[in-house]
Amino acid sequence: METYWRKCGSCKKDINFNQIYQTCSVCKGKFAFCSVDCWDEHVPIMNHQSAWAEENRAPSKTLSPADQPQPVRRIVNSPSASSSKSSPMDTEILIVASKLKQYVKDKHDLSTSANVMDALSREVRRITDRAAEKAMAEGRKTLMDRDF
Ligand SMILES: [Zn+2]
Ligand SMILES: [Zn+2]
Repeated sequence: METYWRKCGSCKKDINFNQIYQTCSVCKGKFAFCSVDCWDEHVPIMNHQSAWAEENRAPSKTLSPADQPQPVRRIVNSPSASSSKSSPMDTEILIVASKLKQYVKDKHDLSTSANVMDALSREVRRITDRAAEKAMAEGRKTLMDRDF
């Protein structure tokens, strides 16, 4: 008898019965992913232009199919959802340039071009947006270190 429901489409880890998992808005039921990160990994591989992850709950092993709870369909990583609000900080530099330059110099003996601050600020926003969506999905009003 199988002890898991399906395997993750990216990392091949078990997705257990009754566990929250992610599906792809493009691939639908073809793959199940154990986390948004694993879903994220397959997007470039499958060459999706625009896709988002949808949260679902694996069926319970003990219930008959008729008694299964309806899947929770919550869009976790929709590009339109995260860009629905804009901030003046969307294009601002979020990095302390002098400290970063000092770090790169000390650690790697490299100088840092100004564009790096733009690129890093974009990365910080991207990671932060994702963490914020996680916090909101858990019903919190506070972004916490464990969201990252
Ligand atoms: Zn996985
Ligand atoms: Zn997909």
